[in-house]
Amino acid sequence: MSLNSALVKQQVYINGAWADADSGQTIAVSNPATGESIGTIPYCGRSETARAIAAAEAAFPAWKALTAEARADFMHKLCDAVMDQLEDLAVLLTTEMGKPLAEAKGEITLGVKYIRFFAEEGKRIYGDTIPSPWADRRILVTKEPVGVVASITPWNFPNSMIARKLGAALASGCTMVMKPAEFTPYSALIYGLVADKIGLPAGVLNIVTGDAPAIGEEMCENPAVRKITFTGSTRVGKLLAANAGKNMKKISMELGGNAPFIVFDDADLDRAANGAIASKFRNSGQTCVCANRFYVQAGVYDAFAEKLKSAMAEQLTVGNGLEDGVTQGPLINEAAVEKVAAHVQDALDKGGTLVTGGHRPDRTGTYFEPTLVTGASQDMKVAHDETFGPLAALFKFDTEDEAIKLANDTEYGLACYFYAQDLGRCFRVMEALQYGLVGVNEGVITTEVAPFGGFKESGIGNEGSKYGLDDYLNIKYSCLGGL
Ligand code: ADP
Repeated sequence: MSLNSALVKQQVYINGAWADADSGQTIAVSNPATGESIGTIPYCGRSETARAIAAAEAAFPAWKALTAEARADFMHKLCDAVMDQLEDLAVLLTTEMGKPLAEAKGEITLGVKYIRFFAEEGKRIYGDTIPSPWADRRILVTKEPVGVVASITPWNFPNSMIARKLGAALASGCTMVMKPAEFTPYSALIYGLVADKIGLPAGVLNIVTGDAPAIGEEMCENPAVRKITFTGSTRVGKLLAANAGKNMKKISMELGGNAPFIVFDDADLDRAANGAIASKFRNSGQTCVCANRFYVQAGVYDAFAEKLKSAMAEQLTVGNGLEDGVTQGPLINEAAVEKVAAHVQDALDKGGTLVTGGHRPDRTGTYFEPTLVTGASQDMKVAHDETFGPLAALFKFDTEDEAIKLANDTEYGLACYFYAQDLGRCFRVMEALQYGLVGVNEGVITTEVAPFGGFKESGIGNEGSKYGLDDYLNIKYSCLGGL
């Protein structure tokens, strides 16, 4: 399985053409599993971004004017071109991001599902006629694409985070300028390659890389951009939302989480342990919906800890994501490893017990062992700050009310999970949790057909599902008089 170098596109994509940064400067991209260099990307700033926005603005009227079916045809062709190279694209994704190859394939396939879903959903952008209070007038409500959409995306899902924004934008008739994360640019730039291949009209999709704050400022301040869609940290989301607000642009924000995972006395513990593995250790703990705090009821605390420990030993293998059987790739960079190590040390300093893991394995690359700590308490960093790595910390609780209170005791509100059998309890807890996504006896719940969005400081708006088009559309009321 070697990297197909034709897919390592080291230029940006503006108005249907490949380009370097105006300054000629580049940024290096490396493989987190080995530390080896993969290539470089252009270090663009405001001027290149402004050109990309101008191209998207120029392409907008013709793209908007196409029928939904014609846009869907382009989108399905784009998906076919991605699926034709699934193996190679998965190797590329694993090489720049680190996740195991099977997860990389799963991510790209999910990205395609988002685009195909929206391609069809675009045919169902219905309007309304409203009974008129005037005998001689009629009221018509239609929906129109907002215009140029600018997107900024993170490194942990370098394909699918883009796909679900791109799918919604293209289907609704918007054009797009996107900026992927510096660590994982190539999985984004491949969309330029496939756009070229299928003959997507120039300017409909543009991709810039480089100086994130400068690119973000141009996106927020350029009058042609009508919407900013961002997935990333709450810190950067707040910066962008404030700047977009000054210029009255629509925003969608998918931000950080601090997901609780509650195991009640009546839970199926085997199911809970397996769900915990999937929810906590997928992508080595680097997803914004990863379980971060495990609240386990006193009666099953020891039994659950034992089951989770065994499941970790049986199911988790650390290594280069390109190797067979590996489930835990490297973390994205050195800073990520240091954060996990700091959370583990803090937990142990404050009275936690190390059950398994806790160290960097003795190998090159930014790895950290899957780690289980019991005896966690609310004063620990892991209780309030997303670890974004392979640390499972188990907290003990006694009553249902206590669990709900602890789970909601955070400024975040993205995903949460709980395991219980009693139907009344399931409904009570489901309704009491202040989260946008609730997994009841399930540890992984993302799908293109369901909405994805956070409460509180985890964000604004929803992606995926029939709701995912709303943010890309303006509602227009027309009054037809003199009838
Ligand atoms: P993470 O912790 O996942 O890296 P970030 O919020 O830092 O989260 O990064 C998510 C995306 O936001 C990346 O594409 C990154 O380049 C971009 N980004 C970071 N800082 C800024 C900024 N000041 N303005 C615009 N984009 C930014």
